[in-house]
Amino acid sequence: MLSPDLLDRLRSLIGAAHVLTEADAIAPFAQDQRQIQQSHPVAVLKPGTVEEVAAIVTLARENALPLIPQGGNTGLVGGTVAVAGTGAILLNLSRLNRIRDLDAADYTVTVEAGCILAEIQQAASGADRYFPLSLGAEGSCMLGGNLSTNAGGILTLRYGNARDLVLGLEVVLPDGRVWNGLRRLRKDNTGYDLKHLFLGAEGTLGIITAATLKLYPKPRRVETALVGLDSPAAAVALLAQARSGTGDMLSAFELMPRFAIDGARELLGRDHDPLPTRCPWYVLLEVASGLDGTIVRDMLEGILGDALEQGLVMDAVLAESEDQRRRLWLIREGLPEIGRAVRGSVHTDVSVPISRIPDFLSTVMANLEAYMPGIRPYPFGHVGDGNIHCNVARPAAMATEDFKPHADAITAIIHEQVLAEGGSISAEHGIGNRKVAEMALAKDPVELDLMRQVKALLDPTGIMNPGKVLE
Ligand SMILES: Cc1cc2nc3c(=O)[nH]c(=O)nc-3n(C[C@H](O)[C@H](O)[C@H](O)COP(=O)(O)OP(=O)(O)OC[C@H]3O[C@@H](n4cnc5c(N)ncnc54)[C@H](O)[C@@H]3O)c2cc1C
Repeated sequence: MLSPDLLDRLRSLIGAAHVLTEADAIAPFAQDQRQIQQSHPVAVLKPGTVEEVAAIVTLARENALPLIPQGGNTGLVGGTVAVAGTGAILLNLSRLNRIRDLDAADYTVTVEAGCILAEIQQAASGADRYFPLSLGAEGSCMLGGNLSTNAGGILTLRYGNARDLVLGLEVVLPDGRVWNGLRRLRKDNTGYDLKHLFLGAEGTLGIITAATLKLYPKPRRVETALVGLDSPAAAVALLAQARSGTGDMLSAFELMPRFAIDGARELLGRDHDPLPTRCPWYVLLEVASGLDGTIVRDMLEGILGDALEQGLVMDAVLAESEDQRRRLWLIREGLPEIGRAVRGSVHTDVSVPISRIPDFLSTVMANLEAYMPGIRPYPFGHVGDGNIHCNVARPAAMATEDFKPHADAITAIIHEQVLAEGGSISAEHGIGNRKVAEMALAKDPVELDLMRQVKALLDPTGIMNPGKVLE
């Protein structure tokens, strides 16, 4: 509980209406997206300006109050969970939601942390520009959360992670100072590039309040194809051909197992099988270009035609309309939904070097089957950047309750193989409080030591999102 004196001071700083302490008012902010953990913040604060954020942080530092920054709360690793008894406060950034500046000539936009990602995309589009961060949660996740988790998503292959889209940052530091690093320069080699410390830091080093982002020319033509293949090895070979064949205009390349189509039929009641040939694996790929006309489609038809002739691809269909394109994407977007509907599945977020994907998948699938015969792995994801959500459903005949106790062992089988392949146990979701212990075992000790030193330097009293990323 916060003392009456501290509550009064917080109310006078940001207004009583923006200090939530009643259980009913707090509850919507205290949900864990994965519904694995309970979150118990003592209060939710909703500052409306950068100065208010800085004043809260100063007060928190003076009184040793743990602060957990929060955006749209769509994170998947418990990054905004407040552990009971810690007295942690949620600092919700949703009222900092202005687009401060959009400069079409500079191809930049300066946005506050509480802007919803889809709204940034729309603002860019309104100025005939393109902001290419795109993920399933884009209708509710916020820029501060995207940058603090260094989000990936479906366009990373072409445009990079969230980190690659940032030119400048504004951050409230754990001592209450505001660092205005909102530069919009493409070139600036004046010493250490400090913004990278805060990108991907999951709120443990400070609070991002605004960022200057790169914009791109708006694609005029987007061509989408669903391709059926017999193996992940064929998918990796197709990826290499499609990248060079399009002059690197490939913007998405998503691998899916047959489970995406059968599961959608059986568990979601959707019956959409776009290819006449039944294939064990599928790739949903997209080529985007600023050029108009049929050049992009001709190029893609040529690449797929060659791949069919070589026997690399079993079957393929190109979307003929925006409606068909949406229907193809629904298959990919349905996979997390299938994961929930199966009532008993383990979720992972791993990456390995692209060339290692086929061996990684065949070894891990064999190891899982040896551990539990009948288990149903359904690996999918942004394979164009080596990122696989190597998820696993319970055997059809096994009860959910009997499967649940195996979750840690199944994750360990997958992660062991990831590390053997030189991969990462968190490709795009971050560490939160769920992978802290595992990361400590997997990372180079020197790297971990440097991370702890950076944390101690910036946040010596440990008020910024304690227990996340580092112990
Ligand atoms: C359906 C669905 C699909 C998803 N798809 C993807 C995907 O394809 N790729 C991907 O990378 N992720 C994906 N995610 C995960 C999630 O959407 C992203 O991690 C997103 O970037 C989190 O943004 P948020 O605003 O919800 O952050 P939150 O969940 O609110 O916070 C995430 C972390 O960032 C910190 N934080 C939040 N705001 C700030 C701030 N202003 N300053 C400092 N720290 C802050 C929090 O303390 C926490 O540690 C998906 C999630 C869902 C539910």
